[in-house]
Amino acid sequence: MIGILCAMREELEPVLEKVEVTEIIEYARNRFYKAKFQNKNLILAYSKIGKVNSATTATIMIEKFGAKKILFSGVAGAVDADLKIGDLVIATKTCQHDVDLTVFGYDPGFIPESKVYFECDENLNSVAKKVAERLGIKLKEGIIASGDQFIHSKEKKDWIKKTFNAVAIEMEGGAVGCVTWTFDVPFFMLRAISDTAEEGAGVDFDKFLEESSKVSAQFLIEMLKGIDEE
Ligand code: SAH
Repeated sequence: MIGILCAMREELEPVLEKVEVTEIIEYARNRFYKAKFQNKNLILAYSKIGKVNSATTATIMIEKFGAKKILFSGVAGAVDADLKIGDLVIATKTCQHDVDLTVFGYDPGFIPESKVYFECDENLNSVAKKVAERLGIKLKEGIIASGDQFIHSKEKKDWIKKTFNAVAIEMEGGAVGCVTWTFDVPFFMLRAISDTAEEGAGVDFDKFLEESSKVSAQFLIEMLKGIDEE
């Protein structure tokens, strides 16, 4: 079973269009779609925005539906100057930029008995790089930072860049990274840029959400062709 997770309805819809939905299950105030894609079994859902929702949905996919890997598709704000709206980025690692226990001497993003960075799966990342090469698509790779805040300030974005060496920011990856690390399940994080995360990002986001969601979904579907269920 492969878990496909998004945060928002707009991110999931273009993925659902490309798979054969076999069953819809209402559970935990959410809707889970069992589906087939080229004989592979999938469980799909959008979690709603943010770290708590995405952690809950990822946990349900693993514990209730038996997902053996989690692939995330969605949109993000650009941090790296190379990234333009519509560009694709995959995470090498994810982290939580809004975790702050620094007064106790810990690094930003660190929780005792946990860690700052959660590694994404190298095999899945290499499948993504091969797909990008085959299709001639530019694919950036780097750290993606998450927090329960929509970032729309150059100052805040620069702080996240400096502190976590992030290339993009969003609101779920660090939480899903923590869940998949906890359960030892491979994790893949794909995002298409929807905004600059600077002043005016909210307007860009609303304008580009649908378009960028489709870019991410289409790429994920291409990748699925080369991914095993186990
Ligand atoms: N306009 C939406 C809210 C969007 S929140 C509404 O009214 O419902 C932004 C979503 O896209 C989150 O799921 C987050 O993961 C991602 N995202 C895109 N750009 C972002 C940014 N600049 N900062 C934080 N998250 C961002």
